[in-house]
Amino acid sequence: EIFDRAIEHTRRLSPATFDQWFGGVQFDDLTDGVLSLRVQNEFVLEWVRDNFLPTLTEKIRELTGWSIQVAWTLDSGLATPIAQRTEVAPVRPRPIAVRLVSPPISGPPSPRLEIVRRMPPPDEMNPKHTFANFVVGPSNQLAHAAAVAAAGGGGRRYNPLFICGGTGLGKTHLVHAIAHRVYEERPEARIIYVSAERFTNDFITAIQHHRMDEFRTKYRQSCDLLLVDDIQFLAGREQTQEEFFHTFNALHALDRQIVVTSDKYPQNLERMEERLVSRFSWGLVADIQVPELETRVAIVRNKAAQEGIALTDDVALYLGQMIRSNVRELEGTLIRLAAKSSLTGRPVDLAFARAEITATSPPRAQTVSVEDIQRAVCHHFHLRSTDLTSKDRHKSVAFARHVAMYLCKQRLKCSFPEIGRAFGNRDHTTVMSAVRKIEAQRDSDPQVRAHLEALEKKLAAEE
Ligand code: ADP
Ligand code: MG
Repeated sequence: EIFDRAIEHTRRLSPATFDQWFGGVQFDDLTDGVLSLRVQNEFVLEWVRDNFLPTLTEKIRELTGWSIQVAWTLDSGLATPIAQRTEVAPVRPRPIAVRLVSPPISGPPSPRLEIVRRMPPPDEMNPKHTFANFVVGPSNQLAHAAAVAAAGGGGRRYNPLFICGGTGLGKTHLVHAIAHRVYEERPEARIIYVSAERFTNDFITAIQHHRMDEFRTKYRQSCDLLLVDDIQFLAGREQTQEEFFHTFNALHALDRQIVVTSDKYPQNLERMEERLVSRFSWGLVADIQVPELETRVAIVRNKAAQEGIALTDDVALYLGQMIRSNVRELEGTLIRLAAKSSLTGRPVDLAFARAEITATSPPRAQTVSVEDIQRAVCHHFHLRSTDLTSKDRHKSVAFARHVAMYLCKQRLKCSFPEIGRAFGNRDHTTVMSAVRKIEAQRDSDPQVRAHLEALEKKLAAEE
C-alpha cells in the first residue's frame, strides 16, 4: 500500500513518461527499507532509476521514515515492456555492479541476472568530507589513522572507534570520510550514518508508530557500518541509551564496525549509563586536539585550493596565526574573505586580511599572541626576553616559563607541540607537565594564583 501511494505520487509528476517506463517494472516487495523491483532490461532500469527513483524513495521516506534501498532484479521472463516497443531516446548505460546468480535447480530454465544496485549513499553527508580533503597533523593523526583503518584501509581496526574532540575540529569530517570510502570500495555495504539526535528521533517515531521491529532490523541487522555522530546528545535520555546499548551489542557481536564521535572523552560524558561509557572504551578512544600552526596553515591552503580561492602564503600564514580556536572558524573566515574580495574586486592580500580580521574579530583572547604572553611574563618576573626560550633550568626562570606555557594553553588554546616550539623547541610532554604543574599550583597556592591574576590583568589590558 505504501508502494502504491508512493507510485501514485510519482506518476502525477509526468504521467505519460511514467506509464511508458513504469509499465516495464514489477514491484516485488518492500520490507525493512529494501524495495525490490524487477525489470526486464537495463534500459528500463536506468531510466526508472535516474528519473523516478529519487521522487519515489523520497515519498516512501516521507510515508515511512525509511531511507529506502533498492534491489533490482533483471528478469527476461517479463512481458516486453511498453518502453521497448516505442522509440525513445537511448539512455547511456552507466556502470553498475552485476552479479550472476545461478538459477535455482527447480527454478525457471532461463538464467537470471541480478543487478546488485549500489546502496544509496547515507543521507546528510557532505561530499567534500573525504580523506583526500582531510589535512593530517599531530593534532589529529591518531584519529585519522584509526578512521582509515575503520574504513578497511589497513592498520589495526578497532571496534568501536570513539573519536572525541572540541567542536569544529573535524570529527564529523572523519566519519563522513569513512562512509565515503566504504561506499566507494564496498558498494554493497550497508552504511548507516546518523547523528545521535537523529537516532533518538528515529527511535521515538518507531515507538509512536509501533515500528520497533523495523527500527531494530534496520539498526541491528541491516547494518554493516554504524556511524553515530555527537553521542553526547544522548545525555540523560535513558530509554534511547538503553536502545543504543542493545544496538551496540548486537552489531559488536557480529563484528560490524561502529564509530562514535563525541565532544568529550567517554568518562566525561554526563548522564550516560556506565555500561555504555565502558563499551565506548572497548576499542580505541582517539582524540583530536586543536591543530597546531602548521596544520592550520595547511588546512587554509587546502580549503582555498578546493574552493578555487587564490591565496598567497603570507595570507595563509596570517589566518593560521590569527584563528586558533577551531577549523570551522578558520574556514569561515577564509570563505568570508573570498566572498568580500569577489564582491569588491579587491585581491585577498595581507592588508585586506588584516583589515577584515581586526574589523570582525570579537574574540578578545585571539588578539594576544604567544609573543605577547612571553613579553608580559618576562616583564612581570623581570627576566630577559630570551630567558623563556633558553635552556636555563634555574628555578625562577623555569617557573616563569611554566607560567607562560600555561597562559598559552589557557588563553590561546595552543597545542602542546606548538607551545613547545615557541619555547625553544621543547618536547610536548615537557610542556604538558609544565601546564599541569601550574594548574595544580593555581588551585593550591595563593601566591601562584596572585601571579596568574596579575598577568591575566596585564594581558587583558593589552587587548
Ligand atoms: P566537528 O564535527 O568536530 O565539530 P567538523 O568535522 O564539522 O567538526 O569540521 C568543521 C570544519 O572544519 C569542516 O568544514 C571540516 O571539513 C573542517 N576540518 C576540520 N578538520 C579538518 C582537517 N584536518 N582538514 C581539513 N578540513 C578540516
Ligand atoms: Mg560534528
